[in-house]
Amino acid sequence: MSFKIEKYIRDIKDFPKPGIIFKDITPLLADAKALQQTTQALLQIVPASIDKVVGIEARGFFFGTLLAEHLNAGFVPIRKPGKLPFKTYTETYDLEYGTDSLSMHIDAIKPGEKVLIHDDVLATGGTAAAVAKLVEKAGGKVVMLNFLIELSFLSGRDKLKAYKITSLLTF
Ligand code: AMP
Repeated sequence: MSFKIEKYIRDIKDFPKPGIIFKDITPLLADAKALQQTTQALLQIVPASIDKVVGIEARGFFFGTLLAEHLNAGFVPIRKPGKLPFKTYTETYDLEYGTDSLSMHIDAIKPGEKVLIHDDVLATGGTAAAVAKLVEKAGGKVVMLNFLIELSFLSGRDKLKAYKITSLLTF
C-alpha cells in the first residue's frame, strides 16, 4: 500500500505514566483521507458476514462504528461500570497493579450472533479477553478480534489463543 497509515500515528512518551509509549491515533482521525483509507484497510482484514461489531471504550468506538456501518452490522459499546443505563453483564480482569472492569448491556447481543470485537490497540490482551467473555456470556460467537495497532512485544495474543486476531499495524 502506498498510503502510509503509520505516518498518522503519534508516539507520546511516558503517557499516561512513565515507561509507556502511547499510540495516539488522533492525527489519523483528524485527516479525512487517512480516516477513509484506514477504514478501507480494516475492511480488508475483517470478515464480511458479521451481526454486531463490539467496540471497546473509548477509542474502539471510532472505527468500530465505521466498520459496523460498512459491514451492515449493529454496533455495541463496551463501557466502564456505571456508564451504561440498562442491566449489564460485567467482567473484572487483572491489571499490572489491581483490577479493572468492563460492562455490556445484557440485550446488546442475541444468542448465536456473529461478533467482531474491535479496539485501537492490543497491548497485554487483558481488556480484549474480558470483552470476549462478555460477548460469550450473552451467547454471541466471537468471529474475530481486530485492532488498528498490535504491540507484539507485549504478547497479547497469548491471552487470546482461542480467537482469530487481525491487526493493521504491528510494532
Ligand atoms: P491491554 O488490556 O493491555 O491489551 O490494553 C489494551 C487497552 O489499553 C486498549 O483499550 C488500548 O486503547 C489501551 N492501550 C494499551 N496500551 C496502549 C498504548 N501504548 N497506546 C495506546 N493505547 C493503549
